[in-house]
Amino acid sequence: MSENNLQVLLKRRPVGEPVPEDFEIAERPVPLPGRGQVLVRNRFLSLDPYMRGRMSDAKSYAKPVELGAVMEGATVGEVVASDDPGFAPGDAVMGGQGWQRYCVMTPDKLRRVDVGEVPLSANLGVLGMPGLTAWVGLEDIGQPKAGETVVISAASGAVGQVAGQIARARGAKVIGIAGGPAKCAFVTDELGFDACLDHRGDLDAQLDAACPEGIDVYWENVGGHVQEAVFPRLRDFGRMVMCGMIAQYNQAPGADAKGAPPGPNLGPIVRKRLRVQGFIVSDTGWQRYPQFRAEMLEMMRDGKLRWREDVVVGLDRAPEAFIGLLKGRNFGKLVIRID
Ligand code: NDP
Repeated sequence: MSENNLQVLLKRRPVGEPVPEDFEIAERPVPLPGRGQVLVRNRFLSLDPYMRGRMSDAKSYAKPVELGAVMEGATVGEVVASDDPGFAPGDAVMGGQGWQRYCVMTPDKLRRVDVGEVPLSANLGVLGMPGLTAWVGLEDIGQPKAGETVVISAASGAVGQVAGQIARARGAKVIGIAGGPAKCAFVTDELGFDACLDHRGDLDAQLDAACPEGIDVYWENVGGHVQEAVFPRLRDFGRMVMCGMIAQYNQAPGADAKGAPPGPNLGPIVRKRLRVQGFIVSDTGWQRYPQFRAEMLEMMRDGKLRWREDVVVGLDRAPEAFIGLLKGRNFGKLVIRID
């Protein structure tokens, strides 16, 4: 094969915000599939906030990426060569092939995807881990009911956009929170949320106006000043879906980092699955993937589910795009088109 395998490796563990020097771009020969293995050419790579945790060796629910190893991540691509009867060249597949162009996988780590109804990249977002996260968190914890008020932070992002539309389809009044007028306009005009508040403005005043009776369900993606404003407005028997706190991800654990967001560090609520209630999608999500996918496809057919992707072209731009994700520079589900 004339083409090389382009890879992004973890060169060193970041302190605070990751910088490009924490990554290394490497070119290596394309691997050959061994007995029972499948060679996949990745087309799209998902960039997700959890990857910041994998760059650190602090104790967590998942192992860190080793120094010098390929960065971990979900991809979709196609089978190039296969020594497994279940996969043939040309099959579209998703799996955790990492930040690289080619990867050899065992069949149990691959999921075949149907490319008939949606673009391939949607399997990393609305029909992938972020969409599944939204669905699981609402099924198990948020459980919005008709007439309730649901607030979703990072509402224009990969998880937030799906969570809000599911809650709305279940009859709730859904208020998004996002950074800046363009994201807020997208959340109301395209996604159909009832309102969207700009967290760069006076969030307390906007919440008072949008949620005068208080909040029944808060979907937490962010932490920091957004959490400070929303948390006191939860009503009796309210539910707080502790999905993530991206505003804290560059903080050293337990440290009073300069510029750290206000309030206590509630990050462990997600990591340790404390009951407020935190959760991790992979605990039970993938077992329920068929039910989730069927519901999402039905919502799409009914025109009730839209999504936006932020597509960056070129695997070598993945570090810069990932650094931007942790600063809110993405607008929609961030994916890398590998070539
Ligand atoms: P997004 O696509 O929403 O991108 C992140 C968004 O967060 C940014 O666009 C920005 O939106 C906001 N943001 C980024 N940095 C900051 C900051 N410092 N302060 C405030 N807001 C910030 O990401 P995802 O939808 O993929 O993930 C959302 C959350 O869900 C994350 O916390 C993630 O870790 C968590 N998650 C948890 C899972 C689980 O199993 N528990 C699984 C998947 C995701 P804006 O400009 O609008 O503020």
